[in-house]
Amino acid sequence: MTRSILRHAAWHLGADTTPGIPQDPQCAVQCGTCGERTEVPAASREAAEDWALEHTGKHPTHQTYRAARVTYWRVSPTGANPYAKKEEADARKAG
Ligand SMILES: [Zn+2]
Repeated sequence: MTRSILRHAAWHLGADTTPGIPQDPQCAVQCGTCGERTEVPAASREAAEDWALEHTGKHPTHQTYRAARVTYWRVSPTGANPYAKKEEADARKAG
């Protein structure tokens, strides 16, 4: 029998503000046949629709798509979480 020790640790869930990560909601579209995908700002839904139409134009047998609204999240250690101290130390080393 395996025994586990569970400890309470504080984590914070929020938007992922990592540079390069889109901050606005995205519209992700994936071809149901080959898996090729695109992602555009949700405000530009027409661009996602155009991509699907063009994709089927290039590959006439690829006619199904999966579309989803995407936002990026990050779970970060906070408070007394030991990982918070490590991230602070790493940040000091980096800059
Ligand atoms: Zn395809």
